[in-house]
Amino acid sequence: MYEVAIVGAGPAGLAAAMYCIRKGVDLQLVAPTLGGKTTATVNFPDMTEYHVIKAREQVHVFRGRIEYLDHTYRLAHVTEIVDQRDHFLIRLHQHKGDAYDSIQAETLIVATGARGEYINVPGERKFAGLGVGTSAISYTHALPDRDVFMVGNSDRVIEAAIEAAQHARTVHLVIEPHADYTHHYLELADRLESITVYNGYHVRGFAGEEFAREVEIQRGAAEPRTIQADAFFLEREPEPNSALVRHLVECDDRGYIKIDEKNSTSHPLIFAAGDVTTVGIEQILIALGEGARAGLSAYRAVTAGKLS
Ligand SMILES: Cc1cc2nc3c(=O)[nH]c(=O)nc-3n(C[C@H](O)[C@H](O)[C@H](O)COP(=O)(O)OP(=O)(O)OC[C@H]3O[C@@H](n4cnc5c(N)ncnc54)[C@H](O)[C@@H]3O)c2cc1C
Repeated sequence: MYEVAIVGAGPAGLAAAMYCIRKGVDLQLVAPTLGGKTTATVNFPDMTEYHVIKAREQVHVFRGRIEYLDHTYRLAHVTEIVDQRDHFLIRLHQHKGDAYDSIQAETLIVATGARGEYINVPGERKFAGLGVGTSAISYTHALPDRDVFMVGNSDRVIEAAIEAAQHARTVHLVIEPHADYTHHYLELADRLESITVYNGYHVRGFAGEEFAREVEIQRGAAEPRTIQADAFFLEREPEPNSALVRHLVECDDRGYIKIDEKNSTSHPLIFAAGDVTTVGIEQILIALGEGARAGLSAYRAVTAGKLS
């Protein structure tokens, strides 16, 4: 029986693990790979990279330490979490050898992140990371005076377009059919000179050579249009990876795990951190800080359990 099990090894899970190790907690970190989304990078042609915030480097340091302490983690996918009242049973699927297994832990930290929605069109996978990316707020500052394209289905893409308009030469903003957005917000974006709104269009595919260079969009059965740009962002509303614990903790209506200022959930022995939670800012530094706090809160819960 472990004192703490951490599900997910992105910045939130790795930071939680580091703090647990520092406190001498007997832990097991479980994820298919170490690093989470920080292993995905996006490059754009002639991108101006400002090396101001080096969050990824801290993740690499944590990852290296965990790899060295190889008894603290296992590479597996968690398939089910069962609350056994005095501990959790965590069922795993290890891809290597296709083996099924389980572990038990007194306390749980959920750091499973959120997944971006692919739109499944030609060229999307080919140019993923090569001009086509997600997380526009991480990159638009590095694209001054460029032509930027964004597609999405909610206020998220409108917000990203307004932010991009501060730096970019032009912003092509595609709102997909059946999108759920605030009309007033879109009107505000439309009033900005550098933003062109294409409402009710869908993306048909990306094309280019080394990098994506153009996208074809279409509204209904009308003639498709081709837009050229330097950067293409898929800014659909992400899906939190919270299905494993939705029966155990309270989530908001989109499935994000509700947490308080100590990263506690509605279950006294489950903590959560990073993009899977209601914290609402998908950035590495935020996930690192949240993970650190979840690690310390879990340590406190373990200590309190021993004293009671
Ligand atoms: C392309 C891209 C570029 C980005 N660029 C930047 C940037 O430049 N700067 C920045 O600050 N942010 C950037 N972000 C956002 C940043 O990567 C995320 O906010 C951050 O990684 C969230 O950390 P996390 O630990 O919460 O989740 P994640 O990094 O998503 O990690 C989640 C972990 O949970 C694991 N997991 C999920 N389900 C299970 C399961 N059932 N069993 C076991 N493990 C599971 C995953 O395998 C993964 O290890 C970018 C995101 C993307 C997609």
